[in-house]
Amino acid sequence: MRLSSGLILASLMFSHLALAQTPARLRTPVVENQGQVSAAVLERQAKQFPTTFYLEGAGDKKEIAFTFDDGPSEHTAALLDVLKQENVKATFFWQGQNVLKYPEVVKRALAEGHVLANHSFSHPNLSKMEEGEFWWDLQLKKTQQAFQQVVGFQPTMMRPPYGFLNDSQIKKLQAQGMAAILWSVDSADWFHTWKNSVDEVASAKIAGVVQQYIHPEAIVLMHDDGGRSRKPTISAVKAMIPALREQGYRFVTVDQLLKLNPKLKVAVAEPITPTLNELLPLFFKLHNTAQVDSWASVLEDDFVLASASEQMRGIKAYSDYMAQLHAQFPGMKLEQVGAANQINQAGLFAWQLLDAQGGLIAKGVNSVELSAAGKLKSANVYMQRELR
Ligand SMILES: [Zn+2]
Repeated sequence: MRLSSGLILASLMFSHLALAQTPARLRTPVVENQGQVSAAVLERQAKQFPTTFYLEGAGDKKEIAFTFDDGPSEHTAALLDVLKQENVKATFFWQGQNVLKYPEVVKRALAEGHVLANHSFSHPNLSKMEEGEFWWDLQLKKTQQAFQQVVGFQPTMMRPPYGFLNDSQIKKLQAQGMAAILWSVDSADWFHTWKNSVDEVASAKIAGVVQQYIHPEAIVLMHDDGGRSRKPTISAVKAMIPALREQGYRFVTVDQLLKLNPKLKVAVAEPITPTLNELLPLFFKLHNTAQVDSWASVLEDDFVLASASEQMRGIKAYSDYMAQLHAQFPGMKLEQVGAANQINQAGLFAWQLLDAQGGLIAKGVNSVELSAAGKLKSANVYMQRELR
């Protein structure tokens, strides 16, 4: 009896300990009928992926993080002015297309101590982009490259547009050393600015939402682009900072709040500029060397032909072929140029091979022949001599 009551007591103590850390949750109501991700989904994903998907910090300290999405834009400079005046560092989740459009704003934000993060390239609902790697290559990676180009590094943090990410996308982020940062307080600034045409009214509503739901280690969602104006958001920020400080809150960036490294550690590859002699074997390797008819017969001065007429081992479809070509050129980018020309079961497409900096290494034309079942039967590679 004594033993079992001891066990009960121990289990009660442990369950109490477990309760001390409450699960992360969305504190503000979702704006109805606006296609926002539901609280239930956000909270389930935060629970399932505790080191990759965040709604808020642990809740112990009176620290809060202001975050701004969608920019940079023509409104961002005025917001940066306010943050500078108040000595507050914020976290910006920016669209790649806008990073490229306003590089000077990006550089200024970084120089003034703000933290930069990825908010996709052009703001689609990523969870609906399930085919292939499009969501990654055309949205996430493209934005990482935009940051690399403008500020020389890639962020670790991203925020999905509208909050939508599916579980396999979260796993991919995890594998890439990245984290999804959602929010616990949605100021709904876009909604109040849209609903209220008088800026002062909209601004008071935004500040009111944040004041009502603020809590230790909150991540607060606001915007620096989109809608009819961002002025209400900016004046709300100006009003909220002293008021929240008065209540003992300290402003930190999201990486500080969650103890994350804001910059991705990327192994910097030496620029690769392979010669034609180094490139050709890579193409041949794909064409199953034992079956290759002619290895490198020079047609003209500028072209080399590699041809394989038998069925290529291990390659079942055109997409496989392209995927394997990509895998053969680490740090390089193989792009199709224009549309493929297809006549019955044969196709012709032009390609170019670029280095990591986008410099042209080589270009050429491939012809492929497919079986009636759509399998790749043969391929010929016509490659122009290296350009440098
Ligand atoms: Zn957004």
